[in-house]
Amino acid sequence: MLARAPGATALYSGAMEIVDDLEALLKTEPHHPLTRLRLDSLRLATELDTAIPALLLALEKDGLKVEGSWRTRGRFADIHGVARPGNLMPATVSLGELRALSGHRVLVVGVSEVGEYDATSTAQALKELHHIEAEAEEVSIKELPVGASVTDLYGRRAPSLKARAPAIAFPPGFTGLPDGGFELLSAAPSPHGWRLQQAIGLGAVSADVTELQSAGGRVTAAQAADKTYRGDAFVLATGHHIGGGLLKENPVREPLLGLGVFRDGRSVAHAGTRLQHIEYLEPAQQFLAGVMTDERLHPLEESGGVRFENLYAAGAVLGGFDYAGPCGFGVPILTGWLAGRWAARDGR
Ligand SMILES: Cc1cc2nc3c(=O)[nH]c(=O)nc-3n(C[C@H](O)[C@H](O)[C@H](O)COP(=O)(O)OP(=O)(O)OC[C@H]3O[C@@H](n4cnc5c(N)ncnc54)[C@H](O)[C@@H]3O)c2cc1C
Repeated sequence: MLARAPGATALYSGAMEIVDDLEALLKTEPHHPLTRLRLDSLRLATELDTAIPALLLALEKDGLKVEGSWRTRGRFADIHGVARPGNLMPATVSLGELRALSGHRVLVVGVSEVGEYDATSTAQALKELHHIEAEAEEVSIKELPVGASVTDLYGRRAPSLKARAPAIAFPPGFTGLPDGGFELLSAAPSPHGWRLQQAIGLGAVSADVTELQSAGGRVTAAQAADKTYRGDAFVLATGHHIGGGLLKENPVREPLLGLGVFRDGRSVAHAGTRLQHIEYLEPAQQFLAGVMTDERLHPLEESGGVRFENLYAAGAVLGGFDYAGPCGFGVPILTGWLAGRWAARDGR
């Protein structure tokens, strides 16, 4: 795995969304990367049943315990008390599932030096929005500067508290939580994202790929500044605008191979100013544009054809889904799993 820097993965909130209603998605979203695989819901479910436990096992080996299943969806509060859905979440977050907290008294821990998070208003939001009995306790961590950020808490030991409660909500980043302690979800920059990034980054080589070389309809090597990485098969998992897999130019461009970029099944190269106008009115629309693949995850040219038989694409570089939506991690995990497997067969 070659990566030049952390991407969107390092910014996630702490609750991974896999898929909401798989049957409905296949029926109503023809350009969605999962629909384009042309697998029925039973086969997709079977792949997810294998891919997710394999991922959780791999993360645990790399020191990050993540829990949950793609078949169950919980709701978790972020540092402002706002609920977000999630299928998979770090073990340190799972105790804070909102339905499970109902009927319990929750203590919300505040750190007086941290300026961007206010435990009292989070406790109030838990009461008003989720009907959870919550109150705040402020602690002071003297070594922190005034106006410190939540990320300054990263890796510190959880402070000891005066009050006792069966459930204790901490801002994310602390280690050694007491019994009943759990972490809230974060806004970006995210301690949860940083831990995930560190776990998956353990096996990565730091390299900025500037070019993919090819010969005879096959990609042969990835060229970085100081080294050429040869391979029998390649997976393009370069992310969306944050990862750098797509450049926000007019029109949006895939920089390594000039692959086709599509929105609603049509090339953005010919969308004219209409697309710019739609994105101006609703910025989230730009997440829908991306690379499109055939049913074996080979990326398509602008003409709709496949140029390289040993190149696969996976994750947020794919268009047709909103990565801030219910498949935020579902598409990267499942397409990554399948692309990796198919690429490995190609390699043989
Ligand atoms: C702010 C934010 C919050 C989010 N929160 C959630 C959430 O709470 N729940 C959820 O389910 N989803 C969430 N998502 C969506 C989810 O994080 C992404 O869909 C997912 O992380 C994408 O993973 P990826 O591996 O495809 O891309 P990325 O994580 O972006 O990785 C792309 C990688 O490719 C590398 N790369 C790109 N080009 C090159 C090159 N030329 N050479 C070498 N390396 C290169 C980048 O350096 C990076 O390492 C969020 C997204 C954002 C932006």
